Amino acid sequence: MVGTLYLVATPIGNLGDFTYRAVETLKNVDLIACEDTRHSKILLARYGIDKPLTGFFDFSEKEKAPRIIEKVKNGAKVALISDAGTPGISDPGYRLVAEAIRVGARMEAIPGPTALVAALVLSGLPTDRFVFEGFFPVKAGQKKARLLSLKDEPRTVIFYESPHRLLKTLEAIRETLGDLEIVVARELTKKFEEVVRKRVSEAITHFSHKKVLGEFVILWNLMNPGGSSPNEPPGFIRRLR
Ligand code: SAM
Repeated sequence: MVGTLYLVATPIGNLGDFTYRAVETLKNVDLIACEDTRHSKILLARYGIDKPLTGFFDFSEKEKAPRIIEKVKNGAKVALISDAGTPGISDPGYRLVAEAIRVGARMEAIPGPTALVAALVLSGLPTDRFVFEGFFPVKAGQKKARLLSLKDEPRTVIFYESPHRLLKTLEAIRETLGDLEIVVARELTKKFEEVVRKRVSEAITHFSHKKVLGEFVILWNLMNPGGSSPNEPPGFIRRLR
């Protein structure tokens, strides 16, 4: 029997976004490798999925990957899921994929939600070319260096950010790239979904009013006519059009 590793996307908030194929696949596997077993148990129980779970994202992925992929090589059907969205996007899922490729194990993606794509299409920014930068570095110096490396970036830039770092990161964007127009997408597909399109200084004011809660995606495009980066070279917008 040929085993398969299934990369299965799960909802990023709204449980209605679990695809039919994702649920069917998870009902038919022998093992589900996940991020937080308690979190996944609750999600899977709501869909009547009762399968053995193994925690994969726990800083020992390098050691665990060969053991899981060996099961696939021996004929097992194994699914990889994350706490939310598409596994492998801003998580160590790629280590399992790399191991599967190394030993020639069969793989299939079961696509579905991912926060960066939902945020991009809602942003109103150009979607034809974009660059996903994952999470910002935590240290101030590294954050600034990363932002400076993007000062001439003509594509739409997308970052993930955690709630407790949001205001500091917005401040770093304003200091490094100027008071440009940004989009902050919060709690996508959830009850408190919000897409804020403002200059960075206005977004800082907006999110300073109350405790910052939820999950965030930050986007901008330096060619966006509203952009006012002082680092913008003369004719920048025109030249790239
Ligand atoms: N695998 C996920 C995906 O496909 O989007 C991303 C996992 S990453 C560890 C978690 C980050 O994704 C959060 O900190 C947040 O920046 C972003 N994110 C996830 N769900 C979100 C949502 N519903 N709304 C806004 N951002 C979200």
